[in-house]
Amino acid sequence: MKKSFLIKYGELALKGKNRYMFENKLMDQIRYRIDGLGKFKVQKEQGRLFVEPLGEFEEEEVLSAIKEVFGISYICPVVMIDTDDFDTIKETTIQFMKEQYEDFDFTFKVEARRANKNYPLNSMDICREVGAYILDNFETLKVDVKTPDKRVWIELRDRTYIYSRQIKGLGGMPVGSNGRGMLLLSGGIDSPVAGYMVAKRGVAIDAVYFHSHPYTSERAKEKVIELAKIISRKTGPIRLHVVPFTEIQLAIYEKCPHDQLTIIMRRIMMQIAEIHAKTVKSLALITGEAIGQVASQTIQSLAATNDVCTLPVFRPLIGFDKQEIIDISLKIDTYETSILPYEDCCTVFVAKHPVTKPNIKAIKRSEEKLIDIEEMIDRAVDDTVVIKIKPSRD
Ligand code: ATP
Ligand code: MG
Repeated sequence: MKKSFLIKYGELALKGKNRYMFENKLMDQIRYRIDGLGKFKVQKEQGRLFVEPLGEFEEEEVLSAIKEVFGISYICPVVMIDTDDFDTIKETTIQFMKEQYEDFDFTFKVEARRANKNYPLNSMDICREVGAYILDNFETLKVDVKTPDKRVWIELRDRTYIYSRQIKGLGGMPVGSNGRGMLLLSGGIDSPVAGYMVAKRGVAIDAVYFHSHPYTSERAKEKVIELAKIISRKTGPIRLHVVPFTEIQLAIYEKCPHDQLTIIMRRIMMQIAEIHAKTVKSLALITGEAIGQVASQTIQSLAATNDVCTLPVFRPLIGFDKQEIIDISLKIDTYETSILPYEDCCTVFVAKHPVTKPNIKAIKRSEEKLIDIEEMIDRAVDDTVVIKIKPSRD
């Protein structure tokens, strides 16, 4: 009786001819996440993946690592035996239950699946016979086929797998199965959540952060790095582009009407983000904007910001209330870091009364005053520092 992990994936199975590609990406992501936790063999078998430990391992540690991989519907710690001999299956089930549980006062149900349709017993027979054998061995247990406290699954494949825990995965699709996107990552609550949501659909993430030293502190930058580390547990490695933004912000502040500052700044951020996106072969930009959340996110402001973009801009939070975004940030562990009170470049150079319905023509006229903006953008791009972010294990 050996321990292993059986991985179930839902949506992937629908992908027809592309299925093997999705399965391979999922296996890559699992291998990446369990790296350092022991030696494992990751393989697929008829619509399931198996992570088989080849030496020492810590079950809960491996489970929490696999739990962070997108594309998984359930993870089941299983025991496996190299035979489909029915007496051995029954004995192993008893042994498994003794190891699994301490108190035997619950109701249960046996569920069986067999890949080999020529097996002498059908699924119903297996359930019935194993169920009866369990009752013989544990007098205090009762069967409840409708709402059992516990389920005992038996799957007969090349080997036989027995398990009774099904841990819910994150769903979604494996990262890397849907191209790359460039996340505009600030230190706030919204953008890490936006990155998480797009990565959940299989998009690999890189990020860009606009840093206005000394108006934004080193600590503000460290906070963004920390947020990138937290989301990278699920999104995989992130190349974080730290763009020096002070020169541009000061120029806007000096030359343009103050009620338009934020919109003009956002338009320039988008242009720089696009340049970096194209360099790393990202096909889209991702932001944490939601309609009406602040003046720069009214529908008119979003249209004015979008006007400079040639890549599609994904705004996964567009219809979310702040509280709904906070709920996700709590779930993905970014909230506590996001609320650390360090200034960000948008709040330093903010107008008292920003326009809420910017007129694109008027904005363009104001931007003409930034005569050397092309050179400034080039410098900001050239002086960008790329930090390679890898997930931390804690
Ligand atoms: P967040 O909570 O993500 O900071 P926000 O509610 O503060 O969002 P804004 O400051 O208007 O909203 O920013 C809108 C979006 O623009 C952010 O979600 C983020 O994608 C991007 N953004 C804002 N500031 C920066 C920055 N300094 N660097 C990178 N992206 C930024
Ligand atoms: Mg912000």
